[in-house]
Amino acid sequence: MRVKSHLEWSWIFMVSFFVLSIVDIRFGLLGFICMGAPIYHAVKGRGKIHCAKYCPRGSFFQKFLSQISLKNNLPARIKTDTFRYALIVLMLALMIVSLYHAGMDIKKISFTIFRFMLASSIVGIFMGIIYKPRSWCTVCPMGTITGKIKKKE
Ligand code: SF4
Repeated sequence: MRVKSHLEWSWIFMVSFFVLSIVDIRFGLLGFICMGAPIYHAVKGRGKIHCAKYCPRGSFFQKFLSQISLKNNLPARIKTDTFRYALIVLMLALMIVSLYHAGMDIKKISFTIFRFMLASSIVGIFMGIIYKPRSWCTVCPMGTITGKIKKKE
């Protein structure tokens, strides 16, 4: 079945997420949806459909960085599995430690997720300006993980 792309407008979710989280940090918990959605689709056998058709962050990079991007090629060492896996381990470790320190405090948990989303978005924006607009997608842990989950034929 052919699935329509929503990348033209789904960036609205990313902007809304940041605005809402600034208004009330508890909205930061919505970041779990952003992290879970690609995995959900992949586990359902839909491969990287989230990246190709829905992802608000991918949509944002594509929409807003295309005009200002220097469009350089990513250095080869950043595209290696070693780099991508190291990034997954690093981000996962930081997230676990941060969540551990947040305890059961909803505001602290929300802030942890918000901070992760913000930091990775800032890195993604810089990468998108220096290299191609969606360069972050080359190293994005969610993209790497979903790429490894077998797609249903
Ligand atoms: S690789 Fe990451 S940022 Fe890029 S489209 Fe997929 S989930 Fe979104």
